[in-house]
Amino acid sequence: MKNINDLFFDQESPAGRIVRGLAAFGAATAGQLSKSTGLGRSTISAALSELRDAGAVLDVEAKANGQGRPSQLLSLNPASGRCAGVLLGLGEIRIVICDMTHAVLSDVWIPIRRDYTPEEAADQVRDSLQGQCAALGIAIADLLGVGVAISAPLSYGGVVLNGDILPGWAGVDLAGIFSRRLDCPLHAENESHCGALAEMTWGAAVGESDFVLYKFDLGVGGAIVQNGVILRGVNGSAAEFGHVVLDPDGSYCRCGNRGCLQTYVGGYYLLRHAQELTGRSETIEEFVAHAKEGRIGYRRLVEDAASKAGWAMGTTATMINPPLFIIAGKMATIGANFLEPLERSFRRSILPQPDFPDLKPPRIVVARFLGNDDTVMGAVALVLRQHGRIVSR
Ligand SMILES: [Zn+2]
Repeated sequence: MKNINDLFFDQESPAGRIVRGLAAFGAATAGQLSKSTGLGRSTISAALSELRDAGAVLDVEAKANGQGRPSQLLSLNPASGRCAGVLLGLGEIRIVICDMTHAVLSDVWIPIRRDYTPEEAADQVRDSLQGQCAALGIAIADLLGVGVAISAPLSYGGVVLNGDILPGWAGVDLAGIFSRRLDCPLHAENESHCGALAEMTWGAAVGESDFVLYKFDLGVGGAIVQNGVILRGVNGSAAEFGHVVLDPDGSYCRCGNRGCLQTYVGGYYLLRHAQELTGRSETIEEFVAHAKEGRIGYRRLVEDAASKAGWAMGTTATMINPPLFIIAGKMATIGANFLEPLERSFRRSILPQPDFPDLKPPRIVVARFLGNDDTVMGAVALVLRQHGRIVSR
């Protein structure tokens, strides 16, 4: 039998498909693996027997299903592989290493000046990963992959398409810069898409194959997931909801356009308005705390922003009719003062329909991950789920 590293990249054999399924789920029953891989139960059973004999798959615990015999849960042997997720944040880089059961083995935050270059980021990531891997008794080359999340749309080849959050990075060959320094497969994706993967793997979208995620933070981003796959579009920049133009004569946006949704709901813009109202500059965390308290200076500001957010989401609902919306980002932590006007505006904006038993209005739920855990764990999920683009190997 091939070793686990080779099976992880094996798209065809039943054992390879089971290894990839278990990597994506963390732990699963044979029935779940049959459903996700499309393989028959007898094929799954034969391949599992070989994987157990090779020590690659372990029986972890029985899962009660309400009646009859509990189903056996299976996982990959934690020692069978490791992978890393990297968040290129504002003024910080975070790097985690996980095993194949999704356990976090190492979690490092590196402060870095805000205007860091892609080359500096890649050097920092390489140096930190070398140390983190050495502490686990492995080398970077032993990792099954490194996933990199960035606050910018990326092309399929890993080129930064817009430097809205990271000025100066537009046009940068992120994949090339990182892969020259990291001797293992590299995946790269924008942070909202990583957030959607984290919610699919561990959060509010577990078991959901169709949903739309809106992330309201300093900027506004999102993801459209259909049949379990993130929609990327021709260039890889699909679901950049923050840059949908609501008013062509509106305020200038950091992307270079005017009147984008982000200029009404993005934290950058709300902080600027709050400063005009209060005379104080504040962080987004302070803004969120004051908005949550319902301070007078913030009420109308937050309600107007939430109404625009709900309107944009309603437009998305009318266009693609998803069953579920997930709201992520720090603005969601404002709670009712943001979420209630958002939902009112959303319900007013969607296509009016008659009461009919079969009609299911879209559900709106708050994400499980509201800090930057979604981004860095989503970067891990890029590797675990072998999602979309391996930009280099
Ligand atoms: Zn814009």
